[in-house]
Amino acid sequence: MKIIMLGAPGAGKGTQAKSIAEKYGIPHISTGDIFRANIKNGTELGKKAKAYMDQGMLVPDELTLDLVMDRFAQDDCEKGYVLDGFPRTIPQAEALTEALLEKGEKIDYAIDVAVPDEAIISRMSGRRACLTCGATYHVEFNPPKQEGVCDTCGAALVQRDDDKPETVKKRLSVYHQQTQPLIEYYERQGVLRQVDGTKSMDQVFAGIIEILD
Ligand code: ADP
Ligand code: ADP
Ligand code: ZN
Repeated sequence: MKIIMLGAPGAGKGTQAKSIAEKYGIPHISTGDIFRANIKNGTELGKKAKAYMDQGMLVPDELTLDLVMDRFAQDDCEKGYVLDGFPRTIPQAEALTEALLEKGEKIDYAIDVAVPDEAIISRMSGRRACLTCGATYHVEFNPPKQEGVCDTCGAALVQRDDDKPETVKKRLSVYHQQTQPLIEYYERQGVLRQVDGTKSMDQVFAGIIEILD
């Protein structure tokens, strides 16, 4: 099963993608996580990506596509995957459609997690991230068992540099300009499904299972 998660930054794509990956036994591929791992490890790619990410802008398509195509080539992608944060532009979506078409494959579902802008800012200011394993928490809606510590791997949780309100506003405007058009793109492909992302995490996941099962 090949699934794309669509939605604004902070809509809950990563949270849901993790649950989907676990339930259906497919890899969760987050381009944001891959970029952050590169930044942490001080790679050339990480250095280039950081300059864009800190400003709330998208990393150029070329850099992103190279990285994603490499990831698709790995063995665990044979049974499908859930994509989180990719594609984010029409050229990225077109490149993905073409790469799949070459192998006679297609995306099964593009799930749009719909959350209005007003709700996004408060979600983002409470988000805490584990840069070691990619787990995400929220100080109010999904707190870790021990404050500031990752339940899964025990690493220290951080507030992402790009989750500050000024950067979040910029990311939201980038989302509306460059990523929102993908909703129509996948609607035309007949694979778009929408869920109400303002509900609780469990309720959103229940809605997604209904679509996928
Ligand atoms: P969020 O979880 O808030 O949606 P991500 O972790 O997916 O954020 O992405 C963080 C940043 O990484 C983005 O603001 C962007 O700079 C960069 N990024 C992630 N995925 C992509 C992509 N597919 N194309 C371009 N830039 C990306
Ligand atoms: P995205 O990957 O779309 O940027 P995340 O999954 O990281 O979004 O979620 C953003 C923040 O909101 C996180 O702190 C997460 O714990 C929290 N969150 C996710 N889903 C919900 C929900 N349904 N209700 C309340 N908070 C949520
Ligand atoms: Zn962790």
